[in-house]
Amino acid sequence: SPAPSPVAGGSGAVASKANEKYFLQRYMLFSRYDEGVRLDEEGWYSVTPEVLAAHIASRCACDLMVDAFTGVGGNAIQFAFSCERVIAIDLDAARLDIARHNAAVYGVADRVQWIHGDFFALAPSLKADVIFLSPPWGGPGYAEAEIFDMRTMMGGLDGAQILRDALGAAPNVAYFLPRNTD
Ligand code: ADP
Repeated sequence: SPAPSPVAGGSGAVASKANEKYFLQRYMLFSRYDEGVRLDEEGWYSVTPEVLAAHIASRCACDLMVDAFTGVGGNAIQFAFSCERVIAIDLDAARLDIARHNAAVYGVADRVQWIHGDFFALAPSLKADVIFLSPPWGGPGYAEAEIFDMRTMMGGLDGAQILRDALGAAPNVAYFLPRNTD
């Protein structure tokens, strides 16, 4: 059966061109895309391409890994292959369900503890070897500023506070940020 297009009912020619660009990259995002991987609209734009997620996961190989902003699960799936135990957190229950579903496609859903909650609230009770941070960057504007200030430019989130909280819970933090971050 034909693969579904990324954003059904996307608005206008520009939107569908962008959608087409992402759809053409589907196997780079998830090599097992055809086996039932799900993506929501945000996921098409923000999920980490699989080879990159696998590389990050090999660098983060450890006993207990925490993915604090799981999204649709591209990173958490790869952590499940490289780490003994994985805790995957997201504030959005629907996205966490998508991530769990995608992890099942890769056969690793049971190797991850899925926690629906707010990283800031959970951080004081977390202990991990490595924490991976891939918080939302506050929209597509991040590239336009000369310097990306993670304290003020991540939508409503304070990126510096995220880092402090993570360092309180783990000795190692991997933080996915725009290259123009101060
Ligand atoms: P990616 O999918 O690459 O991780 P996104 O920017 O799409 O990046 O997703 C960031 C995720 O972080 C979203 O799924 C969002 O629900 C989640 N999120 C936002 N705020 C919090 C929070 N305080 N605690 C946990 N997760 C959060």
